[in-house]
Amino acid sequence: MARVIGAVCRLCRAEGTKLFLKGTRCYSAKCAVERKTMAPGMHGRQRAFSQSDYKVQLREKQKAKRIAGILENQFRLYFKKADQMKGLTGENLLRLLEMRLDNIVFRMGFASSRSQGRQLVGHGGVTVNGKRVNIPSYIVKVGDKIAIKEKYKQNVFVQAGMKVAGEKGVPAWLTLDKNAVAGAVNKMPERSELSYPVQEQLIVELYSK
Ligand code: SF4
Repeated sequence: MARVIGAVCRLCRAEGTKLFLKGTRCYSAKCAVERKTMAPGMHGRQRAFSQSDYKVQLREKQKAKRIAGILENQFRLYFKKADQMKGLTGENLLRLLEMRLDNIVFRMGFASSRSQGRQLVGHGGVTVNGKRVNIPSYIVKVGDKIAIKEKYKQNVFVQAGMKVAGEKGVPAWLTLDKNAVAGAVNKMPERSELSYPVQEQLIVELYSK
C-alpha cells in the first residue's frame, strides 16, 4: 500500500494551511502551522510569495493529495474516474476521496486522522456491512454500515478519535452509534459537506492542460 511518509507537518507548512495529518496534535497549540507561518526549507519565505497560475493550481492539487495521503498515480486515477462520471469533475473527485473507507473511519471519529484510519482498516479492524474490509481505498456506498471490530473498540487511537468526534460532532450525512462504535452512511455528501478545503476547479484546470 503506497502512502505518504516522513515529517508530515512540513507538508502543512508547505501548503500554508492545516491538513490535519497528525491526529489530536492538529487540534492543539503544538501544531506546526500555528507556530510557524513560513513554508519549510531555506527558500520558504520566497515560496510563500510566488503566485503563477500554474503554481496555484499545482499547490491546490498537492493539498488535496496530501490530505488524502495518496500518491500521484493513485490521485490521477481518481481524477480519470471522476472525469468519466456524470456531474462536475472536481466535485466528483472530492466525493470519491471522501467516500474512501479510511476517510469515512476518520469522519465517523474512529480515528483522529486519515492515516490512523488507514492503519486501522489495514490491520483488519473495520467491517463494512458485517464483513471485514482491509482495503483503505475501498469506496463506501450510501446505506453501508461501518463498524469497529470488538478487539479494536478499546484501542487508544479509536478512543482518542471518539473523543475528538465527541467535541466536533459527525457530519449530517453520517450517523454514529457511540456505544456500538459503529455508524452508517445516510446519503452522499453535498459539496459544502466535503472535508477538503480546496478549490477543486483549479485541480481540473491543472489536469486539463
Ligand atoms: Fe498539520 Fe497536524 Fe502537523 Fe498541524 S499538527 S502541521 S495540522 S499535521
